[in-house]
Amino acid sequence: MSIISLKNVSKFYRNKKSISTGFSRINLDLEMGEFVVITGESGSGKSTLLNVISGLDSYEEGEMYIDGEETSHYTEIDYENYRRTYIGNIFQHFNLVNSYTVRQNVELVLLLNGCDERAIKKKVDEIIDVVGLKKYKNTKASKLSGGQKQRVAIARALAKDTPIIVADEPTGNLDVKSAKSILKLLSEISKKKLVVIVTHNYDQVEEYATRKISMSDGKIIEDKKLKSYEKCDAELVSYDDLIFKNKLKLGFRNAFNIKTKFALLFAVYFFLTLLVFSEYSNIQKQDFSNSLGGYNSLFYVNDPERVVVNKKDKTAFTEEEIEKLRNVENVDFIEKDDLMLDANGTIYDEHYSFYSMVSFKRKNELDHVDEGELGKANNEIVVESYKDSYIKYYLDEFFTKSYNLQLENIDNIFKVEISGVVYNDSDDDGVTVYISDKMFEDIKTMITNKKNKISFEIDDRNPGMISNDAVMVRTSSKVKEGEVFIPAVWSNACKNYDCVESLLNVSTSNIYYTEEMELKIANLINKENYKNFVEANSYEEVADVVFLNTNDYARLFEKGDYQISLFLDDLLKADETLKFLEDTGYDYYFMKDNLVNMNEQIMGIIKIFRNVIFIIATAALFFISYFIIKIILKSRNVYFSTIRILGATKKVSNSLLNIELLVDINVAFLVFLVLTYLTRIDVISWKFISDMVKFFTFKDYVMVYLVLTLMSLCISNRYAHKLFKDSVMNTYREEV
Ligand code: ADP
Ligand code: MG
Repeated sequence: MSIISLKNVSKFYRNKKSISTGFSRINLDLEMGEFVVITGESGSGKSTLLNVISGLDSYEEGEMYIDGEETSHYTEIDYENYRRTYIGNIFQHFNLVNSYTVRQNVELVLLLNGCDERAIKKKVDEIIDVVGLKKYKNTKASKLSGGQKQRVAIARALAKDTPIIVADEPTGNLDVKSAKSILKLLSEISKKKLVVIVTHNYDQVEEYATRKISMSDGKIIEDKKLKSYEKCDAELVSYDDLIFKNKLKLGFRNAFNIKTKFALLFAVYFFLTLLVFSEYSNIQKQDFSNSLGGYNSLFYVNDPERVVVNKKDKTAFTEEEIEKLRNVENVDFIEKDDLMLDANGTIYDEHYSFYSMVSFKRKNELDHVDEGELGKANNEIVVESYKDSYIKYYLDEFFTKSYNLQLENIDNIFKVEISGVVYNDSDDDGVTVYISDKMFEDIKTMITNKKNKISFEIDDRNPGMISNDAVMVRTSSKVKEGEVFIPAVWSNACKNYDCVESLLNVSTSNIYYTEEMELKIANLINKENYKNFVEANSYEEVADVVFLNTNDYARLFEKGDYQISLFLDDLLKADETLKFLEDTGYDYYFMKDNLVNMNEQIMGIIKIFRNVIFIIATAALFFISYFIIKIILKSRNVYFSTIRILGATKKVSNSLLNIELLVDINVAFLVFLVLTYLTRIDVISWKFISDMVKFFTFKDYVMVYLVLTLMSLCISNRYAHKLFKDSVMNTYREEV
């Protein structure tokens, strides 16, 4: 059985306007062991015939048999397999990869066909030796003479070890001497193979040829047996696809081995990286500044830098722990008296409310006053005031009167005197007053008290619960330790309506602790006697108050700092600090993340709008870079059609291109990372970069990296798709 057999095969070329005949109605049987020479004038169809035989081009009519198998139903994949196992091509124009060395060119065909590099090393060297190019092993193909190039091409065809070698005018570009030696070489390697060679110069091959075929006008006009040949069988070596390791190897090699192409792609990708990053950072920047606006309904001080912290085990902070937190990087300062930050009150006299929304600081934070004096008494306070306010005209009256200071949501009234004023420059809506440590602690305890759930129970003489949310607990100097004064109306709960000498159980709890104590009821406060026992302006003020000794009161409410506030230096580094808190055993409430923006909806729309613009801009960048990269990659068409001829599948070629471009984009990305790193550690100053990286976290780098990688993959797939739409020969023809 003939290895290749053509029955009435015709090949037409369809152009847009016309159809031309490559050859028509050819009948031909080719046997293993033959050395067939095809001659004929130019345009007679020799090349077309060779291309059809080697599966590089399809045919239109008739049937071609390979080893007896019909091929009219062959798909592109079948042809790929056929080319891979049966055909070694040698072309007039050599068709080498010019940027590869001799070795790499020969090795390429084996790698593409799934061989492992180490396994073939010896074979490659031997073959290079056979074609007499040992000295040029590591020379780039572009540096070789025509004869040497053709030897490389032969070496390549040999390396694959296929039963059929097809050579289209292999000596067409060579001088007489090199042509002779090439043909001699071909004849030597052709033992046990089928060699089909097209030549203009029949004389040169006559001595080797076993058969001569002459063509004219697309037909065989002569088919002459010249001498006998040794019949043999086709020995097929089966090959696989390129293995992953070698895909990477070739991809890297391709990325770097043409310097100008690499530089151009790098430039494009670097700019692409810069642009995508700067676009992305713009979004981040705006998100960030938007996130700072807004307010929080739970806290009075809602600076975005504030982080309210407590311990996971709900115990109080020790001084040591607070000190440690104070030294954490990015912590600007710590407010131990966290509850006091959110305390606010009103200062008024019988006529006016002078200040509302007053917040409190300790007097010892002041080192001077601008008017009056600091004041030594517990009830003397210093107020902060806007420099140009009317206060200065009323100072005398200011300093001599007495005022009421009342906390929001708390009935208790402090009688205070203003002893001094400090001026500030800003016209803030709140006012700060500086108060004595004693008053500060009192207010703090009062707020704790207010936040606690307190319940009272009178002992077993006549057990009864007094449940009244309005009940307040206060101190009085008249109450002895262990005793308590209660409102007279509670007597209903006691036997004989008399509670004196009974025991009152007071228990208090909040999210951090519970505390309980038993106190002896020493007195009942009523409208008539209240002035003798407690300090109050009116009876209404004390009607629902339980009075304790200061020490007992402290035992219930002064339990230490369960909750403190940190203020951050740099909001952009907040994530790290919060993670540290989390890992160190703290719970936190980060103000910036809990601000409600009034214009949430508008913001949402703006955000969507911005993201759409980002996507459009990225798409525009994609098309621009695709356009540029396409031009740069045009120089790669030869490479990809070459490897296709050598047996690379579409999939393999596609992934080689993917790797090639990914390497480029990774290099560009890496260079960008190095640049940002260098700007971060202040080795170089590039404002454009330092401005945008401020807003990046690790997540953002990953995000941009993914966008870029995706873009790169899209570009190479699009390109590959176009490149592979056409048959091998058509793509190749277009390029050479
Ligand atoms: P040869 O190799 O013998 O010089 P070819 O096989 O190249 O001849 O060409 C045979 C015929 O097919 C010629 O008439 C030529 O014009 C035509 N032909 C070859 N290639 C193409 C092509 N790509 N498109 C259209 N016609 C072609
Ligand atoms: Mg030709």
